[in-house]
Amino acid sequence: ADLRDIRDQVLRALSEDGEPTAPLGAIFHGEDVAPTRFLEIDWSAGGGIALRAGSTASHVAMLARARGVPMVVGLGTFPGSLAGMALLDAEHGGMVLSPSPAEIDAFRQSSSAFAARQGAAQSFLTRPAVTKAGTAVRVQVNIANPSDVDGIDISTCDGVGLMRTEFLFGKTLPDEETQYNAYRKVLEWAGDKPVTIRTVDAGGDKPLAGFTVEETNPFLGLRGIRLSLKRRDIFRVQIRALLRAAIHGNLKVMFPMIATPEEYSQAAALFAEEQAGLAARGVAHTMPPLGIMVEVPSVAIAPEAFANVAFFSIGSNDLTQYVMAAARDNAAVTYLNSVRHPAVLRLMEAVVRFGRETEIPVSLCGDAGGDPAAIPALLETGLRDLSVAPAQLAMAKAAIAEVPV
Ligand code: PEP
Ligand code: MG
Repeated sequence: ADLRDIRDQVLRALSEDGEPTAPLGAIFHGEDVAPTRFLEIDWSAGGGIALRAGSTASHVAMLARARGVPMVVGLGTFPGSLAGMALLDAEHGGMVLSPSPAEIDAFRQSSSAFAARQGAAQSFLTRPAVTKAGTAVRVQVNIANPSDVDGIDISTCDGVGLMRTEFLFGKTLPDEETQYNAYRKVLEWAGDKPVTIRTVDAGGDKPLAGFTVEETNPFLGLRGIRLSLKRRDIFRVQIRALLRAAIHGNLKVMFPMIATPEEYSQAAALFAEEQAGLAARGVAHTMPPLGIMVEVPSVAIAPEAFANVAFFSIGSNDLTQYVMAAARDNAAVTYLNSVRHPAVLRLMEAVVRFGRETEIPVSLCGDAGGDPAAIPALLETGLRDLSVAPAQLAMAKAAIAEVPV
């Protein structure tokens, strides 16, 4: 989708054609939609996205989830004309074209029931999350762009559980100053609450021009920490920006796609080297705690190899796709991509148990954390620390309040 996006932008620039404008509140329909197109659209008047293909784990899905824009994927081909009225039901995953009065009525009822549940959930937003039994659960937010925090009241969450940094790496590789300013903005916003920034997770479904390489099987290739350790010139710039930004708040840094303890040691050694460099030059900085994502099954199966990390953060999106051998961006195998499969839950439980025994904090930052249907099973594993898309904060807290543990 990213590559098609770049192609279309080049073609538009060459032909000097503008993007066709859509009426406010329109439903965008197509094969897939590019992240840059999503960002150009004014969603303030509503509207939604209906895709023939697409994936709930794509870049656009993350952006839509963060903004609360309704989106349905994997709809296949529609017969007939797409002009006119359509009902987009992102709660149950469907679209009705040229609806009958009865369908419109049923849709209105279902959407007002959803709005009522959302409205009721708002009262949970300002309170700390607790289960029915009174167990406290930390709920942090996942962000991608520094500007994502502008619309969030820090008092409604327990910090940032995951700041993805791939979006900063957008079309050109960002320099140290650009990254430092982006990280500093989020740290200052969070005050003394923790902000966990993930080093760049390029590759897989997140190709980055000038950084990632073309591979036949990118999800199993040079992505995340593997790529950062290969392209140390690029990685070191990010490390310096993070070390410098760390003085402005409560920073934690984590590495994506760790599979072996050696990868962690090498990444931690680069942090130590860059720290020494900054110290020698008299540049203000501090070393943050360094943790890892648990998204490659090898870590969840044998966590004892990682007894020296500062914390674990379970990436359920990737952990699920690797355990179930079902690509997260392939609509045909979505039915396999369930975090609630016993194999996935058992691995999470093992990591939580290991964390308890060794006193290493364990949290979860995959999208399942914000899914009311998955929350009971996640808390059953012993997890007490979730990170969710900002738009899901209230509903996640409301769902936690229903869990008996
Ligand atoms: C995950 O894999 O669950 C995760 C949080 O990371 P991403 O979705 O960015 O791969
Ligand atoms: Mg991941």
